Amino acid sequence: MTSIESHKKAKALKPGSKRPAKELCSECGLCDTYYIHYVKEACAFITQRIDELETSTHNRPRNLENENELYFGVHQEMMSARKTQPIEGAQWTGIVSTLAIEMLNRGLVEGVVCVQNTKEDRFQPMPIIARTPAEILAAKVNKPTLSPNLSILEEIGKSGMKRLLVIGVGCQIQALRAVEKKLGLEKLYVLGTPCVDNVTRAGLQKFLETTSRSPATVVSYEFMQDFRVHFKHEDGSEETVPFFGLKTNVLKDIFAPSCMSCFDYVNSLADIVVGYMGAPYPWQWIVVRNDTGKEMLELVKDQLETQPVMSEGNRKPAVQQGIEAYDKAVTLPMWVAKLMGVVIDKIGPKGLEYARFSIDSHFARNYLYVKRNHPQKSAAHVPEFAKQIVAQYKLPE
Ligand code: FAD
Ligand code: SF4
Ligand code: SF4
Repeated sequence: MTSIESHKKAKALKPGSKRPAKELCSECGLCDTYYIHYVKEACAFITQRIDELETSTHNRPRNLENENELYFGVHQEMMSARKTQPIEGAQWTGIVSTLAIEMLNRGLVEGVVCVQNTKEDRFQPMPIIARTPAEILAAKVNKPTLSPNLSILEEIGKSGMKRLLVIGVGCQIQALRAVEKKLGLEKLYVLGTPCVDNVTRAGLQKFLETTSRSPATVVSYEFMQDFRVHFKHEDGSEETVPFFGLKTNVLKDIFAPSCMSCFDYVNSLADIVVGYMGAPYPWQWIVVRNDTGKEMLELVKDQLETQPVMSEGNRKPAVQQGIEAYDKAVTLPMWVAKLMGVVIDKIGPKGLEYARFSIDSHFARNYLYVKRNHPQKSAAHVPEFAKQIVAQYKLPE
């Protein structure tokens, strides 16, 4: 065994056992494999390394003087996009699934790490290495819970694959980038989605039960740019609930401690990111970070309608009010919430300004969470870009 493979002597943790990051663990899956050997430098909650890994991945650091880079990370270009022929049942129009299928069909990769669900439960994540387009399609739509995507890392070595695409959220991708060189791959492609406010499966149940009129029939949901949660139900109907009407006092505790301490909302280390929050509804939002991401986007451009990113409104007063309301766990009566939702939708932030609204609000909340609950970690754990963003607001003690 060469020194590069010394990790193979390490022992994966048993399911349910305590993780090295303790309560901050986001169940990214690394510790379910012998790559736990590298946990100290790979785990996003033990050693925060976004700045350093951004430079090694994209060949340059994030430019903190440029507002778009400060917020959205290193990038070459951004755009609004949607598939001209959307994939039925995808989270949005299915750009993520389409990109993965194209890469497989054209032989750029031999496998795709993605997340299907178990037979028994549509929201229980089941990470796999897909080797056919049908297996990729079966992974479409968000499993809005913590997902151990990296639990398949040992399988990569055993499969003999040399070219791989990994789809994942920020905390998974930080750990992946930290062990990338140990995987024995010739080429790794990373397709990221933004991610925020994730929950355990039990937390998700509580959210559905407190918020939806019919929790058992929800097939997907999204916190949308119109300041409402949109639930899609089995019968095809859509239910919307204004953000301001959410039962903040009940929901405050459902988000996983990892996600209350996370500052990688925009998936800084992916080659390309596909989300929605920087685009006007109902468009998706694409951020191309480096040449690999550009190569990936070219494969699907003929299946997309695109338009330049836009930005409208002023988020700052709403963010400041939101920080105070959240801290006091204020819930508005539903009729006031609906009215506020309508007003904000008409005059509120849109496009990139909406994305900045969401980043500011979540970073401020998470900054306070880390400062109050993990004061000894706070200085090293909060990345420089997040400190700069939060410093624009007046925060409660
Ligand atoms: P699809 O073609 O439907 O493919 C979805 C892909 O997501 C699948 O390949 C699947 O493998 C992968 N996936 C599903 N669940 C998980 C999971 N738990 N962990 C890792 N990978 C998963 N975008 C924003 O702009 N703002 C947000 O605040 C935001 N929050 C998100 C929170 C979560 C937990 C997730 C998973 C995504 C979030 N996104 C967010 C991304 C957005 O919801 C869509 O996933 C994205 O726009 C892609 O849509 P699509 O139709 O192209 O994807
Ligand atoms: Fe291990 Fe991942 Fe949990 Fe960190 S977040 S302790 S790397 S499973
Ligand atoms: Fe991971 Fe952050 Fe998403 Fe939580 S919010 S699952 S820590 S990327």
